[in-house]
Amino acid sequence: MIVGVPREIKDHEYRVGLTPDGARALHQAGHQVLVEISAGEGSGFTDEEYRQAGASIIQSAAEVFERAALIIKVKEPLLSECRLLHAGHILFTYLHLASSAELTKKLMESRVTAIAYETVEAKDGTLPMLRPMSDIAGRMSVQIGARYLEKTQGGRGLLLSGMPGVEPAHVVVLGAGVVGSAAVRIATGMGARVTVINLDLERLRILDEQYQGRIVTRAATQAAIEESVPTADLLIGAVLVAGARAPKLVSRRLVGRMRKGAVIVDVAVDQGGCIETTKPTTHSDPVYFVDGVLHYCVANMPGIVPRTSTGALTNVTLPYVLRVAADGVEPVMRSDAGFRKGVNLYNGDVTCPAVADAHGLRF
Ligand code: NAD
Repeated sequence: MIVGVPREIKDHEYRVGLTPDGARALHQAGHQVLVEISAGEGSGFTDEEYRQAGASIIQSAAEVFERAALIIKVKEPLLSECRLLHAGHILFTYLHLASSAELTKKLMESRVTAIAYETVEAKDGTLPMLRPMSDIAGRMSVQIGARYLEKTQGGRGLLLSGMPGVEPAHVVVLGAGVVGSAAVRIATGMGARVTVINLDLERLRILDEQYQGRIVTRAATQAAIEESVPTADLLIGAVLVAGARAPKLVSRRLVGRMRKGAVIVDVAVDQGGCIETTKPTTHSDPVYFVDGVLHYCVANMPGIVPRTSTGALTNVTLPYVLRVAADGVEPVMRSDAGFRKGVNLYNGDVTCPAVADAHGLRF
């Protein structure tokens, strides 16, 4: 099959759909890989690396779309890309179609088969292509929080680890799923005092066992939140109620009880945030203050570590890409029910119930 990798054109998107290693695996499996010129630049991959992996460098997106049958991307296609899609294309990317009637309509009109990374399920029901981005954002939340705790950045002027004779910073993590567990891991690794609060006690039991008394775990009661948050130097929001807006666990009044220069990183901002004072920010203007407390609420955190996130993405997408390139979409759909859930449109017909529901389409 001919596999095409266009350059991502969404604002501040530095990732690319395939690493040179991924291109090599496809080339070795007998496929032709077309990579748009400079597509890997934002992630630190040169055209020469792709050439050495056996890919061809193509001068324009239009030519990639024209020649390739399978298009591998990161973000949903923008309007200019939709114009290049046509019947027979297989599009494999993050799509989030339930939140965009316009894009759904465009893809229906172009008669493509579109597979959304975020709805492909693994055998155990987890979402393998969402997980790495949550893991990355969770790890980043502590690194970013530590930076903003520096005095010159507006923070309290604390080193997370403290020093012998000087106490470490207190990191409070709301939520113990993928983001929260990753944050706990980095915060403990950096020597902070860590409290993690979660609704699901089983998640807390797993973390308690893992960290053997080095962290404090608390059930998500109002009292636990009221006691922990005011002493937090770094508060990380990491809760998720699937498909819904995040519950507001921390009120504005409670933020007002935090110390001046404390830092909030609300990773859950993409679902509205779990702190009342959260509002979405961007990589170009990432922080603001409320009552002297610094807030960082960027909704696409992994976008600024593209080398890591591109690698992590290709690691999870490549096995599917190889199967689709070898057999086509239908055989993989028949043999893998989890993959079938990823197919949001088949030859222009919406095949994902959630997307059909969201836009009042007959399914
Ligand atoms: P997850 O499902 O793995 O974990 C969510 C956790 O929240 C679960 O353990 C659940 O028990 C807990 N929870 C739910 N309601 C709660 C409550 N009322 N009190 C306490 N805990 C509660 O989800 P995840 O993958 O860790 O994602 C967390 C959030 O981060 C999501 O909104 C996700 O979209 C977001 N995210 C943001 C970025 C970004 O760049 N900002 C990147 C990746 C993920």
